[in-house]
Amino acid sequence: MYQYQPPAELLKDKVILVTGASDGIGAAVAKAYARHGATVILHGRKVEKLEAIYDEIVAKGGPQPAILPLDLQSAAQQQYQSLAETIGKELGRLDGVLHNAAMISELTPIEFTEVNVWHEMMQVNLNSVFMLTQACMPLLREAPTASIITTSSGVGKKGRAFWGPYAVSKFAIEGFTQVLADELEGSNIRVNAINPGATRTRMRATAFPAEDASRLISPSELENLYLYLMGEDSADIHGQSIDAQPK
Ligand code: NDP
Repeated sequence: MYQYQPPAELLKDKVILVTGASDGIGAAVAKAYARHGATVILHGRKVEKLEAIYDEIVAKGGPQPAILPLDLQSAAQQQYQSLAETIGKELGRLDGVLHNAAMISELTPIEFTEVNVWHEMMQVNLNSVFMLTQACMPLLREAPTASIITTSSGVGKKGRAFWGPYAVSKFAIEGFTQVLADELEGSNIRVNAINPGATRTRMRATAFPAEDASRLISPSELENLYLYLMGEDSADIHGQSIDAQPK
């Protein structure tokens, strides 16, 4: 899968929701999905940033995307349900969801982590994934085959000091992915987690402000793995946690 070369029309006629499509890995992958034929639903919280991605996709001749703004920190369950209903009404189908959006805060020992920061991180990084998945399930079940990709992290597999709620939320994403995959065994929906590994984005720069970012891979270098797991060439891959940059 690491050498995968996606066919040009891998995602033709598919509708795929990408959360956190306004920046970093989500923006790069959303554009790659559109280049390979998908109608991409661009989720984020800032419409102007999403419009810039939308314009890039349209300028390159991709299928017209949709923009769905929603702040994951404050969104209630009903808003996820409405989002899924809008997708059903406007686009008629949903073939995949990339749960990519997440936040990080200042690295702090658990002893000094503020309770509101803890809750905020769980809401954005974990609870939103649960609520969005639940809301999208009826549409995904109707698709001929569907793919759900969650986003893990190295600190979601082995705890590291000061990564507090971010690390714990990613451990929970690993667990969520395993439980859901077990429940969906034998169904039309496959579920896998990707740990992108150190990647040159705003989030990485927040966590490692002093590092030489030029030594990191760029989000677009991860595209082919995300294409592989979203497209039907990965039909047999289910319930896995995949390191995009294995050591
Ligand atoms: P970025 O910070 O570049 O992008 C994060 C995206 O999530 C943005 O689109 C951002 O929107 C969105 N987002 C954040 N908070 C909210 C919110 N409250 N509501 C809606 N959208 C929100 O991060 P990366 O591209 O680096 O990260 C992508 C994923 O990869 C994350 O899940 C991250 O945990 C994971 N990851 C990244 C690594 C790395 O080295 N970069 C390593 C391991 C895992 P906005 O533009 O509005 O801020």
